[in-house]
Amino acid sequence: MEVAGDRVVVIGLGVSGSAAARLLARRGARVLGSDSAPDPMSRDEMAALEGLGIAIETGGHSPNLLDGADLVVLSPGVDPGAGPAAQALGRAMKVVSEVEVASWYFDGTVVGITGSNGKSTTTALAAEMLAAGGVRTVPGGNLGRAFSTIVDDEEDIEVVVLELSSFQLEQVDAFRAETGVMLNVTPDHLDRYPALESYEAAKARLWEGQRKEDWAIFSADDPGAARLAATAPGIKIPFTLGGRPGTYGGWIEERAGVKQAVASLPDEEKPSLLFRADDVPLPGPHNLSNALAATLVARRYGADVDAIGVGLRRFKGLEHRMELVGSVEGVSFYDDSKATNVDSARASLSSFLSDVVLIAGGKHKGTSYLPLREEVLRCCKAVVLTGEARPYLREELEGAVPIYEEESLAAAVDRAFYLARPRGVVLLAPACSSFDMFDNYKQRGRIFQGVVRDLLGDKSKENDRQ
Ligand code: ADP
Repeated sequence: MEVAGDRVVVIGLGVSGSAAARLLARRGARVLGSDSAPDPMSRDEMAALEGLGIAIETGGHSPNLLDGADLVVLSPGVDPGAGPAAQALGRAMKVVSEVEVASWYFDGTVVGITGSNGKSTTTALAAEMLAAGGVRTVPGGNLGRAFSTIVDDEEDIEVVVLELSSFQLEQVDAFRAETGVMLNVTPDHLDRYPALESYEAAKARLWEGQRKEDWAIFSADDPGAARLAATAPGIKIPFTLGGRPGTYGGWIEERAGVKQAVASLPDEEKPSLLFRADDVPLPGPHNLSNALAATLVARRYGADVDAIGVGLRRFKGLEHRMELVGSVEGVSFYDDSKATNVDSARASLSSFLSDVVLIAGGKHKGTSYLPLREEVLRCCKAVVLTGEARPYLREELEGAVPIYEEESLAAAVDRAFYLARPRGVVLLAPACSSFDMFDNYKQRGRIFQGVVRDLLGDKSKENDRQ
């Protein structure tokens, strides 16, 4: 795409927006970046953008921002239903997202991974397996560098594995993922989307630019993903934790008493064994499902069974996703701060058999917490609630197990520790986003881990004294 001399407005100067601004400026566009926040980036970063000739306005959008613009780029964090983004869409201007911009200048192959939950894990696993198979690859998008930064860095990459949120898939046009993976589609972000249908429509755009030879990999176990896949133009490759789903696909079967992942794929003469379910280093059926999806991607680009095994072994899990922080007095503490919606918290609980004290709550996103109830009944001793969503959670979990409320995360950890003893699990899986009390899920996880470490330190000191 030729942009030299074009006037481009980039709305939102977070990591992705700034990256797109840089990429376009280097290709000769006259770029103006605008952000409603007063300090969207550090002074050094701002100076670097200005050094490329990018004009920047912060702390609000000027009324004539869009005048004369040939192209408007929306950062994923920007709500297309409000402000200048809505105006640009209303005026039928050319509005694109950051991944669209990056895709114009990328020579390699794009793998896109989306879904409500499991994107980062699957993206990281697929990249690990591909790398083990000798493919020049990097993970990107939501995980690692923005796609525009990867393109701007001009590395020689054969396959980029992009973690894509629904926000990044809004406003794509020429973007094409040769392999597009849809893990699941469950209600999330209903605070931003007017209805589940528009959230689903954004996710389905993953496959929109595909050709008939491209692969649409999707979970056959997830009704939302399976429903959306019916409209995909490419070759459909379902995966399931059940038996063989069709001519092509990935599934689990028991051979000689061992659960194994098997796949039947285009260009392969017969089904092949991929890995043993026991080899997946992460707990829970949802992670087996993620591993299966990642393996199908890796197979397509040449990773053999050995590379898949190496990729699985090398994968150490990601921060704040079911991280074991430590154990004391028979109680184990898990940080799953990234469980920011109901379905991920449910999956998180599914990894345990019993004696869990769940710490949940945070910013309420508008979805019902009822789907948690069954898992809470099955494996929880108690639930400790914090944050703004407390009353909503209480209303829907009341009567299942004892419920406690605490003002701070630190107090919640203390309470949960007390309740979990003499042996049990304290699990932070909030089912909510963190923005009521924290900057993001990472900060929430770090604070949780800090409180737990203090507790572990205190207890080991006490034990030393005895
Ligand atoms: P995402 O990038 O989509 O947010 P992550 O891989 O970071 O996904 O996982 C976020 C949380 O979602 C994890 O902490 C885990 O609790 C849960 N999770 C992971 N995979 C799945 C899945 N396939 N289905 C449901 N929940 C999942």
